[in-house]
This record gives sequence, structure tokens and C-alpha cells, in this order.
Amino acid sequence: MADTKVLVTGATGFIAGHCIQELLTHGYAVRGSVRDLERAEVAHLHAIAQRTGGSLELVQARLDAETGWAEAVDGCTFVWHVASPVPPNVPKDEDEVIRPAVDGTLRVLRAAVASGTVRRVVLTSSTDAITAGHDRADTRVRTEADWSDVDRSGPYPKSKAYAERAAWDFVRDQPLELVTINPGLVLGPLLHAERTLSIEVIRQLLAHEMPAVPRIGFAVVDVRDIATAHRLAMEIPEAAGNRYICAGERLWMGGIAADLAAEFGPRGYRIPTRPLPYPLMWTIARFDKTIRLALTMVGVLPLVSADKAKQELGWTARPARESIVDTAESLLRYGVVRRRAADNRAHTP
Ligand code: NAP
Repeated sequence: MADTKVLVTGATGFIAGHCIQELLTHGYAVRGSVRDLERAEVAHLHAIAQRTGGSLELVQARLDAETGWAEAVDGCTFVWHVASPVPPNVPKDEDEVIRPAVDGTLRVLRAAVASGTVRRVVLTSSTDAITAGHDRADTRVRTEADWSDVDRSGPYPKSKAYAERAAWDFVRDQPLELVTINPGLVLGPLLHAERTLSIEVIRQLLAHEMPAVPRIGFAVVDVRDIATAHRLAMEIPEAAGNRYICAGERLWMGGIAADLAAEFGPRGYRIPTRPLPYPLMWTIARFDKTIRLALTMVGVLPLVSADKAKQELGWTARPARESIVDTAESLLRYGVVRRRAADNRAHTP
């Protein structure tokens, strides 16, 4: 398999790092694209390549520019298009998020077709392309047959729905296979010291940066299981032309806080577990942009089914508690959250 080369876009990202690890561990050669080769933090990727004895090269290509994509896909058999803007707050102009997501996806797909070597693209979409904008009273479990209501979605969910739609429209008349992986909230261990949006929930609880816990729900999934889902979507011939929801347990943030409190409370961390009343959250949101982003999610527990991925890909999701604890351990290991003096696991390797 070492002669089967896979392009992973957005190699600097949280999910892409695990995707690269999954591919190298399974003997594939990897080319990663980054938006700025000189500034990209990639030491952890080279360390994985060294540890696995795998082949990793990095190239430069931006979602918002034409240059670099032909070189990026050259000689690749597969592309995992993972890169997309994941803004930490609501942008003033939604096109800042939507344009790179949609135009970047089309750039990658056009380059893949022009290469003459790429057989299949696995696109990292989101459950946000499926669940966003729906009426709260409608509690149907969503499947791959559903799409979000873009007219009632924020910029990020809109960007994911538009980019995925554009990809399906594009491949309809092209000699290129497409599979999408639609993850829920992705948690799990960091591979280096990074700040990425999806682990903010755990970081803020562990660092006691929120006074109490808002009633926000998530369909949690582990980043390692998402990397495996990409590989299965690439390797299984029958996966072509399909969307796959990959989401595990549905949890309120209070449940995540309770899991953290059980593990890290005895080690000296003060994990907030009291519920945050909506009016107080609304007030905090006037000053805190991340909380403002979360306002629309209050009281909503995303209802999605991953049955199709389980049945057709043989995909499995590990227990959410394992992902929650491993996320927190990695935040401490890489110093993203400061260890408490009382945490005597600080000295264990
Ligand atoms: P992340 O750590 O923020 O990674 C995003 C990646 O996209 C980074 O490598 C970033 O590059 C790259 N990128 C953004 N704008 C770019 C541009 N204009 N040109 C080139 N590269 C650009 O986020 P992540 O959580 O790993 O997300 C990866 C993918 O998974 C995204 O498509 C996201 O929508 C999807 N997803 C994530 C979750 C989740 O909970 N994490 C859930 C569902 C779907 P820089 O490092 O240079 O910024």
C-alpha cells in the first residue's frame, strides 16, 4: 500500500492529524496540504511519520486560491478533503466561511478529475449539513436522507451544507467517486498543543472558565473513530456515492461535565456542574463570542442515527466517556490547560 498515495487537505487540523496517523499506520503514503508551508505547525506529523516509518510529504495550497492544487493531487489515488474554515465565533460576513468552504471543495474536486489518477474523494462534511435550522419541535431522528434548512442556519452549518451539496452536484457528471463522512461533535486526544473549536467544551470545563453549564446537547464522536471512518469510506468499494453520519452518544453538556468531574474532581480540578440559566447565558453572550455562538444551540439535542455507517462500513463508535477523558488528559499533557498541583498523575509518563 506504500505506493498508494492519499492527499489529506488541511493537514494542520485536529481531525486531519488523526487522519494522517490512520493512513500512515495502515501503510499508505500521505501527502498533506497546508495553507502556508513556512508557518504551519507540523512537527507532530513528522513525528508520526517517523514512528510509523511511513511516507509523508507536505505541499502548500489554499482553499481560496487556484495555485497548488494540481501539484497537491498529482499521483494520488485518493483525496481526503478535510480542510474547511471552522471559525471560533460568528463572522461579520458569512461569505468569509462559505466561500472558502464551497470554492475550496470545487477546486479540490476539479484538480482530482484533471489528475487522471484520483479515483475517489472522501469529503469531511458534518451533521450540521443535516440537522441545522430545523424546527425545535420536530424531534424526528435525522438520517443521511435529510439536509439542514440553510435559510435558518448560521454561517458555519451553511458552509458545510453548501460545500457538500456543491460536491454532490459536481461529481454527478464526472468520472470521480465521492463519499461524505458527516461527524457530530468530534472529541478525543490532541496530537500536539493546539486550540481547535470542538475541544473548547472540554477545555473550558476543565479550566473552570465557565461558571456553570449551559443546556447544550451534542452527538459526540471520537476523532480516532472519525479517522477510521474516512479509511473505511475510502477502502470499501460499495461506499461510493454515499453519505455516512458518524456520531456516537447524545449528551447534554451537563453529562460531559459530570464525566469530567468524576475523573478529574478527585485530582484537584474544579469542574462546574451547576446548570447555567438561559437569561444569564444570554447576558454573558453579549461579552463572550464563543458563548454567543452557542446561544442558538440551547435546549437542542441533535437527533441523528449512525446506523448506516455501522451496517455498511462496519464502523463502531467508542464510549463518549473515553473520548471526554482522553481529550482532557491531552489538554493537560500538552499544557493547553495547566495541571493542578494536586494532580499526582502529572509525573506519570
Ligand atoms: P481545525 O482543527 O480548525 O482544522 C481546519 C483545517 O482547515 C485547518 O488545517 C485549517 O488550516 C484548514 N483551513 C481553513 N481554512 C483554510 C483555507 N482558506 N485554506 C487552506 N486551509 C484552510 O478543525 P477540525 O475540527 O479538524 O475540522 C476539520 C474538518 O472537519 C472541517 O471540514 C470541519 O468542518 C469538519 N468537522 C469538524 C467537526 C468537529 O467537531 N471538529 C465536526 C464535523 C465536521 P490552518 O491550520 O492553516 O488554519
